[in-house]
Amino acid sequence: MTSLTRAWTRLDFERDGKQVGSFNFNHSVHRSAYGVVQIPLAVIRGGRGPTVLLMAGNHGDEYEGQLVLANLVRDLDPGRVQGRLIVLPMANAPAAKAGTRTSPLDGGNLNRVFPGDPGGTPTEQIAYYIGEELMPRAQTFVDLHSGGSSLEYAPSTLTQVRGDSEFDRRALAAARAFGYGYCLAFKVQTPGGQATDSAFKHGLLNLGGEFGGQGIATPKLVRKLADGLARLLDHLGVVPAQGALPPGEPVRFMASPEVDANVYATVPGVMEPALELGAWVKAGDLACLVHTPEQPSREPVPHRFEQPGFLVARRAMGRVEPGDCLAELWIDYKP
Ligand SMILES: [Zn+2]
Repeated sequence: MTSLTRAWTRLDFERDGKQVGSFNFNHSVHRSAYGVVQIPLAVIRGGRGPTVLLMAGNHGDEYEGQLVLANLVRDLDPGRVQGRLIVLPMANAPAAKAGTRTSPLDGGNLNRVFPGDPGGTPTEQIAYYIGEELMPRAQTFVDLHSGGSSLEYAPSTLTQVRGDSEFDRRALAAARAFGYGYCLAFKVQTPGGQATDSAFKHGLLNLGGEFGGQGIATPKLVRKLADGLARLLDHLGVVPAQGALPPGEPVRFMASPEVDANVYATVPGVMEPALELGAWVKAGDLACLVHTPEQPSREPVPHRFEQPGFLVARRAMGRVEPGDCLAELWIDYKP
């Protein structure tokens, strides 16, 4: 399919060396009639080898990946690259600049609008450019997420499996190189507007992760992600390591339960978590209590897990409303 994008870049994807700029599209508003939205973009190319598309800031309030990719763009000597890195450190830049999950320009959640629309809202135009201009140039897609402002994740990676033994072997090997203790091996999903849907359509190896959250990046998690990414880029052959890299952890592959196992708030109030992230729970175990401090004599409302599993994420904001996701479970992966 020919791309119909209206966005453009002054970067040359075929030129060796490091280029840092943006891709741009028109956004005509009261304060800037001929203005453009600029999405930061870097191309680092050298030698012969694969192309890896690295992305962070898909959700604007997820910071670990934005920091690690900005560091990579500054620090990486293009002479070390065997192939090409296409780097988007702040994919939904309007959202990221506002420090919010979604875009202040149109309310768009970038990871719900793929494959996007070349003539659509700003968020849809970003999705279209990434999915139809950048992904077809790559063999591997790496999308770095976290829990953002409202969730905290046990740091973990994701890799897509297809039920194709050769592809799945490569997907699981890449996740092992990434070296996080837990990796969600997710199956082909019903299209949900996610970047991974477009990566699947283009046949890319499809990796990512949830590297923390709580609306902040900690030194420990940034270091862990930088080390994991270095191992992954070495494994893919695109940035061979100079010397020994810090070893990764043995990886346990996980899956999402068939039936939604998330715990959702049933009442408004203040959440008191019952468990730390990384706990293994049984059906019926307490996830949290929701208190009503404005009526302190009222008993808190227990919220329990309906299924067994691994507590991979929980809400990172104390105040809750009915419908808020309070906890997410994974289960063991069975090929
Ligand atoms: Zn995200």
